[in-house]
Amino acid sequence: MADLPFKKMTHTFLTGKVKAFLPLYQQFLKEEAYPIESAVIAKPFRQSLQLLKGIRSKAKEKKLWAPHLSENEGGAGLSLTEFAQVSELLGTSPIGHYLFNCQAPDIGNMELLRAHAPEELKKKFLAPLMDGDIRSCFAMTEPEMAGSNPLQLATTAIREGNDFVINGHKWFTTAADGSSFTIVMAVTDPQNSNPYLRASMILVPIPRRGYELMRNVPIMGDAGEDHQSHGEIRFTNCRVPISNLIGEEGNGFALAQARLGPGRVHHCMRWIGICERAFDLMCQRAATRKLGDHRYLGHQQIIQVWIAECRAEINAARLLVLQTAYEMEHSGAKAVKDEIAAIKFFVANVLSTVLDKAIQVHGALGITDDTILSFWYRHERGARIYDGPDEVHKISLAKSILKKYGLTFH
Ligand SMILES: Cc1cc2nc3c(=O)[nH]c(=O)nc-3n(C[C@H](O)[C@H](O)[C@H](O)COP(=O)(O)OP(=O)(O)OC[C@H]3O[C@@H](n4cnc5c(N)ncnc54)[C@H](O)[C@@H]3O)c2cc1C
Repeated sequence: MADLPFKKMTHTFLTGKVKAFLPLYQQFLKEEAYPIESAVIAKPFRQSLQLLKGIRSKAKEKKLWAPHLSENEGGAGLSLTEFAQVSELLGTSPIGHYLFNCQAPDIGNMELLRAHAPEELKKKFLAPLMDGDIRSCFAMTEPEMAGSNPLQLATTAIREGNDFVINGHKWFTTAADGSSFTIVMAVTDPQNSNPYLRASMILVPIPRRGYELMRNVPIMGDAGEDHQSHGEIRFTNCRVPISNLIGEEGNGFALAQARLGPGRVHHCMRWIGICERAFDLMCQRAATRKLGDHRYLGHQQIIQVWIAECRAEINAARLLVLQTAYEMEHSGAKAVKDEIAAIKFFVANVLSTVLDKAIQVHGALGITDDTILSFWYRHERGARIYDGPDEVHKISLAKSILKKYGLTFH
């Protein structure tokens, strides 16, 4: 890459730790990730597990493992804003986050279990998850219900003796294939007059009787496998002990909200990393693709306009997300509810635009699998849908603004 992201990081957020760590992560990616990433995404993910395991061990040896975890937990001890900047850099490779064990959905599950799981679950599931010995998934969305209104959950977990008995159908459970547990969101108190107190989060070990991974859902022709997949799963009288409850019974929505705040910062910064890589490829192509004698693509004004617009949008996106992360860290997620909504749809759209323009500049090459652009185009179209579709975030932000002007909503 001609101009790596950390050179563009705003000084406002560059702490001593970030300055020290970014070049180390960058060097590691240069040596271990960029040379192999195309081969890894070109074949079924399991075929690369052994190779990736070796590289993950090196990340541990170099003390770059799990940058979001504290040093006591074997991590690099970065704050949310510091990690966000590392996350951008890791986002420049499709295997960046995985190599350092800070990939979704495991990172969200680590944060959830760390803050809300009973000690026994922490020992049995959180510790190996933080060590990278196992993986996990998060099962909330259901094919029969509109995921943008999660209050409509149909999956139930009914108490019977010392167990919960879970029944339900989920999909888009990212990385279910090969996971050692899932955290399922299920209705435990359907009669509660407050719909926000009806659901709970429960840890289900895998394999488990009554739990079935039905298939990996194909995404634009690619079903993927292992960490790079989205599972459709069914719970049929699946029993787990009541002690597998995470947090308090009925607190599922509150936990989901808490999980999503930092989660959106993580996603957005990863997307900005993808933008930087796509931008770099676009500029390289514009500067070297000859249209005629002494005439290159980059001499065309339309291409220059795209490059200028993409540059400005990526820079704006970064500032917005880092400011949100910083405020969240200092004032809590509630205080930046509107900003969290704003970054989600703003950055997802910057990502869509930059990837699309980068592909367009590559011409036919852009839609082949000979560059990594097509992989991201296929798998990141979902960015405008997951973690709440754009429209839902826009409506939420607009309502919050209009309420301040005295408008009421029923
Ligand atoms: C790549 C990917 C990974 C995912 N990973 C996970 C995971 O690990 N675990 C998990 O539980 N779920 C996961 N999901 C599911 C995701 O959270 C849902 O897809 C999302 O919440 C939207 O729900 P839905 O697909 O049911 O869309 P619907 O709720 O059916 O909405 C469809 C469309 O309607 C529009 N819309 C919805 N509500 C409104 C409104 N109020 N006003 C205007 N327009 C509206 C939006 O354009 C939306 O895209 C993932 C999804 C994707 C694409």
